[in-house]
Amino acid sequence: MSEFKKDIFYGLKPEMEDMKIKIFSGSASIGGNFIRIEDGDRIIIFDQGIRFDLLNKYYAGFISPRGVSELRDIGAIPKPEWYEEASAIYISHMHLDHLGALSNIPSETIVKLPSISVYEDIEEKWSTSPTWLSLIPRKYYVKLEQLQPYQTDDNDVMAIPVSHSAYPSYTFIYFGKNETVLYTGDFRIESFLEKEAFHELHQGDDLLTFLAENKDIRIDTLIIEGTNIGSERIPITPTEATKIIEKLVKNREQSLATLHWLDAEYAYLLMSIAEDAGLEVAIASASLAALLEKISKLPLEPKVIAEYTDHITTFPKTFIENMKEKTLILVSYREIVDLLKDLNSSGSLSKDCLAIMSEPEPQIEEGSEYTVIANWFSLIGVESYRIRASGHYYQYQLKNILESIKPRKGIMPIHTGKPKLFLKVLKNNKPP
Ligand SMILES: [Zn+2]
Ligand SMILES: [Zn+2]
Repeated sequence: MSEFKKDIFYGLKPEMEDMKIKIFSGSASIGGNFIRIEDGDRIIIFDQGIRFDLLNKYYAGFISPRGVSELRDIGAIPKPEWYEEASAIYISHMHLDHLGALSNIPSETIVKLPSISVYEDIEEKWSTSPTWLSLIPRKYYVKLEQLQPYQTDDNDVMAIPVSHSAYPSYTFIYFGKNETVLYTGDFRIESFLEKEAFHELHQGDDLLTFLAENKDIRIDTLIIEGTNIGSERIPITPTEATKIIEKLVKNREQSLATLHWLDAEYAYLLMSIAEDAGLEVAIASASLAALLEKISKLPLEPKVIAEYTDHITTFPKTFIENMKEKTLILVSYREIVDLLKDLNSSGSLSKDCLAIMSEPEPQIEEGSEYTVIANWFSLIGVESYRIRASGHYYQYQLKNILESIKPRKGIMPIHTGKPKLFLKVLKNNKPP
């Protein structure tokens, strides 16, 4: 747990303030965030994620968790006492290292979610899962409410949209009794979308634009994610990734793109590229189709592949055998290997088929098996590329972010595998 004293504070003695910010989990790991704010008699929680680093340490293959209490014991999910007296739990986005296991919530509480309909689409799948995913669905006493962006709610919390590899994703500002706290959640400052498209998708501006236009909002304490701090990977931004993808899919008969089922921004971009290249788009994933149905203006109308959708959809249906010509297929990591086998066995796999695997998050956040998927591509003879435009800002962009947010009192790092380095980097980039 990290509290005020351990982190960088600009001269004020934390003991003099009555607000307490407790980071019970996530201050030294990528994901598993749990922030408890105690402000007088008001207690609120930001995120209650799963620690995938610990989950992957103790479970693999046939070694699986016995239940919630075991997961609590190893520290992979929050302890019951962390929730005591909380008036609400705010979920920044629905990656599992933030959403967490709702069944772990020990007593009657309100959970404020980015989208109830997106959550409910997937909740049913989780509840019937033979794996530990069946622990995610809520107990009967948990009440869901949907976050309303740009509005200050009954707990004085405002949610502001940010670009990330899950849709929708929010930053939270808490207007406390004596101070204002901003928790970034996971975010990047360059989106896959042009400004207008971002506005259309999120029904408003992103965090930095919003703060620039609302100068009366002053932030005292900033809790900021640091996923990419200390990472030596090439900092490819969405703009650069777009150029590469355009070049790859041009003049191809058939392309496959794998993506996380919550990554609406990337799906939106792929559809724009297909539109420009004169390709049809087909979706081979029920959860991705359900997410995209909720977006009012897409660059084109995609079709869904009937063999991969079990729900009633507003999109027109198509079939595997129609996939051979001028098509871009969007598919999730979970379904890609099945799709590949089905295309191959039905004679619908084009000779020039190309696959683009996006790798938006550090593997640790949700644990997809990229290498295994890549092995299937090479076994079947499909040309494939892995591309990673991070869902998180890069270290060189931090200075710019701090200059926009200008925290007056202090900064607390979270969602980082390198907490000591992050503190050093924050000190060096401290705004004037
Ligand atoms: Zn995360
Ligand atoms: Zn995330």
